[in-house]
Amino acid sequence: MKRILVTGGAGFLGSHLIDRLLEQGHEIVCIDNLKTGSLDNIEHFLFNERITFIQHDVTESFPELGHFDEIYNLACPASPVHYQSDPIHTFKTSVLGVLHLLELARKTGAKIFQASTSEIYGDPLVHPQTEHYWGNVNPIGIRSCYDEGKRGAETLFFDYARMYDIEIKIARIFNTYGPRMDVKDGRVVSNFIVQSLQNKHLTVYGDGQQTRSFCYVDDLIEGFLLLMETPKEITGPLNLGNPNEFTMLQLAEKVMRWTGNDTTLQFKLLPQDDPKQRKPVIDEAKRLLNWEPTVMLDEGLQKTIAYFKERV
Ligand code: NAD
Ligand code: UDP
Repeated sequence: MKRILVTGGAGFLGSHLIDRLLEQGHEIVCIDNLKTGSLDNIEHFLFNERITFIQHDVTESFPELGHFDEIYNLACPASPVHYQSDPIHTFKTSVLGVLHLLELARKTGAKIFQASTSEIYGDPLVHPQTEHYWGNVNPIGIRSCYDEGKRGAETLFFDYARMYDIEIKIARIFNTYGPRMDVKDGRVVSNFIVQSLQNKHLTVYGDGQQTRSFCYVDDLIEGFLLLMETPKEITGPLNLGNPNEFTMLQLAEKVMRWTGNDTTLQFKLLPQDDPKQRKPVIDEAKRLLNWEPTVMLDEGLQKTIAYFKERV
């Protein structure tokens, strides 16, 4: 049994990760400020004696937490609507919060995992994206608090590894969806599903020709666990995502097909710096982890719609 810290554990991805870690028999400390996460996501395991929940903001210095074998850092709002609502706090979360966690890893000797992002590539000029691409990021735009924060976090991870020889694992996550996304999350998959179930217009930003590659949550979490188990010399950054690429118009069509509600599209302004295309090359994850996604978009959407049907 390992003692594992999960930050952002009350969020969408964090709560699924904790499910898996508890199944494996580990003892978990979950830290979350509950800004975009919710106790609803974790209430089913709060009575488990192997989990301790601490409401705490990672930008604040940490209470004494004892020894950890592993740390998974997922704390950070992920939806553009949320990370842009308090951009300074978002930036602090990825830089100051990460510094606190890296110090904890250094002191306790814990292996530390960072939930990084495809936003490292910004609005990519190279397509599809390998881990070698350095990205095309606006440093002063409305997405920068998130993109540059996450880039800074990767820098800190590598500098801590070089200076203090700590064991680091960085996953660059591409758009992931599934049950436990918040109804008001604001990202495209949950927006389209909620709007469709409520017989409202589907809000398409821009002309809907921009692309994303959507990964189902269970596939992604499997990738996290495999990456954490790799030998020390494997640090990442490693792309984790589903390489099947769709336009937002194709996504809208699929959502309507699987909800059975044929509503209309409402076109809205494309937000500033919205990436035009995104698709991961996952050859490295296949080679190093023997991992690739198994749940394709139609199946994943049906599972996610079933979840939202009970909530809207
Ligand atoms: P989410 O918003 O559901 O979860 C984030 C969690 O972190 C929430 O529970 C929130 O309350 C908590 N949190 C935020 N700031 C915090 C702070 N300062 N201190 C403590 N807790 C804080 O989002 P998610 O989709 O589960 O994303 C989890 C992680 O994965 C994030 O770091 C995100 O950047 C990364 N990521 C997610 C995706 C995706 O498609 N889901 C893609 C790329 C990267
Ligand atoms: N989008 C959309 N309608 C919505 C929400 C988002 O058309 O209601 C678009 C958005 O402009 C972007 C894509 O869907 O091009 C993915 O957006 P999301 O916020 O899910 O994640 P991103 O990849 O931009 O961080």
